[in-house]
Amino acid sequence: MQLVCLDLEGVLVPEIWIEFSQRTGIPELRRTTRDEPDYDKLMKYRLGILAQHKLGLPDIQKVIAAMGPLAGAKDFLDDLRQRFQVIILSDTFYEFAMPLMQQLGMPALFCHKLEADASGTLVNYHLRMPNQKREAVKRFKELNFKTIAVGDSYNDTAMLGEAHAGILFHPPENVIREFPQFPVTMSYVELDTEIRRASTRI
Ligand SMILES: [Mg+2]
Repeated sequence: MQLVCLDLEGVLVPEIWIEFSQRTGIPELRRTTRDEPDYDKLMKYRLGILAQHKLGLPDIQKVIAAMGPLAGAKDFLDDLRQRFQVIILSDTFYEFAMPLMQQLGMPALFCHKLEADASGTLVNYHLRMPNQKREAVKRFKELNFKTIAVGDSYNDTAMLGEAHAGILFHPPENVIREFPQFPVTMSYVELDTEIRRASTRI
């Protein structure tokens, strides 16, 4: 039995914080772990900025719904799900991802949770566990699944390495250079071809 694990942001949907920052015109929300390596500090900062701008969860979800998935993502995913069990492994939060998941036909998603108060203001976040992408692939292997993993950036490389086959999709130059062991795909057609190839090999 083969299982395909897909990263979400940069593979099926836009980078949510970056796109959100553009759509709301709040440049502070472009801050990433590259600017602030302490993830907890970064998240508290982001939640603080959202509260300051009085953006509660319903407002945020409206903006995210309008982003939509990447062009071609829904067709790619629908086709893939005809042939494989597909699980999306992401470090985003259910509350952010849901408007996009609805547009993708509600595939299975493993990610993290946000906490809102009664007024909808986001007050905290909860990571289900550290390194969950890689841990999930490990567990799927223990359940006797052969796994093919697809991701676009650094935070996917541990998952790609753990899987029976790892594939990069639209990665930045530095990731291509540092991880030459993973095939690089730049479109859904190329990705589909590479998944088929991996599927016959593993
Ligand atoms: Mg990504």
